[in-house]
Amino acid sequence: MAKRDYYDVLGVDKSASEADIKSAFRKLAKKYHPDLNKEPDAAEKFKEVQEAYDVLSDEQKRKTYDQFGSAAFDNNAGGNPYGNYGGFNTSGFGFDDININLDDILSNMFGGGFGSSRKKNRPIKGEDVLYRMNIDFRDAVFGSKKDITLDLTEKCDECDGKGGFNPKRCSTCSGTGKVRRSQASLFGSFITESTCPDCNGSGETFERRCSDCKGKGYVVRRKNITITIPEGVDTGSQIRIKGKGQVGINGGENGDIYVEFKVEDDPIFKREGYDIYMTLPINVTEAILGGEKEVPTLDGNIILTIPSCSQTNDKLRIRNKGVPYGSKRGDLYIVLDVVMPSKIDRNQRRLFEELSNTNLETSDKFKRFNKYFK
Ligand SMILES: [Zn+2]
Ligand SMILES: [Zn+2]
Repeated sequence: MAKRDYYDVLGVDKSASEADIKSAFRKLAKKYHPDLNKEPDAAEKFKEVQEAYDVLSDEQKRKTYDQFGSAAFDNNAGGNPYGNYGGFNTSGFGFDDININLDDILSNMFGGGFGSSRKKNRPIKGEDVLYRMNIDFRDAVFGSKKDITLDLTEKCDECDGKGGFNPKRCSTCSGTGKVRRSQASLFGSFITESTCPDCNGSGETFERRCSDCKGKGYVVRRKNITITIPEGVDTGSQIRIKGKGQVGINGGENGDIYVEFKVEDDPIFKREGYDIYMTLPINVTEAILGGEKEVPTLDGNIILTIPSCSQTNDKLRIRNKGVPYGSKRGDLYIVLDVVMPSKIDRNQRRLFEELSNTNLETSDKFKRFNKYFK
């Protein structure tokens, strides 16, 4: 099924401000929140609204979406050159904002927290995992695959994630999942209610607790995961690997793994947007006479033509040797650095002395300076 345009989902146009998007989201989240709206398709609509907000409320993600569309956020899109590249920024995840906003919405409406409307045994999505990964400059430009090892929870096979065998009503809380306690205070006694510690609020315990998982329903396993680094990622870029995070609770879906990249500095190449800069030291005669010189690029060595009378900071542009984006690539800029010799021999001195008898002060710089000097 084709995804609806995120702007259409929120009913805002492409130029909508952050505030417009937030306010549209709040309205729709209230309208479709499954705890409030009992229409059969409310949950689906709510999810759609959440997803659209998740992307459009984040400046980086919104940019990526405007450029690549929603395919950029799908991990499973086969053949999509961006894989699961979301281009998220480092400042945090959109879904955190959403949870805060939802709590706001619900507490505004009910004067209570989200928790109070929670049903016991409700499926809960597993936790997301954030993994920070250092990658080298070339891998960031061209993409790569890397294996990582993570300790992750997964469903206990022995008890099928239930935590035990032969369920029975919890005797501690009589199946309510909550325990009440009367507490005395200066102002009289009051009753506190908390989640039952024996059944963790489910109202059920087991005749026999599962020994493999010690009743938790999940076990921690060390897992190898192959990360596909999409081409063109930069420091702060994140990808999402859907469903590979911590195991869900009560049959809820698994959390996701977010991999955030930090690109290590390269001794030669520097990146600016999609362009790459490289400083090339050249000697005085190369600068003056010009000529051809073999230089490295990320795609292998090339023969660079240096124009005669080149100056320090002159930029030579090599098209399409920068960072790939979409079907295009940025450019490579070779910045010249004319380096004076640190010593010269007798023969070189003689040649320079011969040169010094000629007029080498043809640059405007001399003219400008001499005007003040005289
Ligand atoms: Zn209990
Ligand atoms: Zn178990």
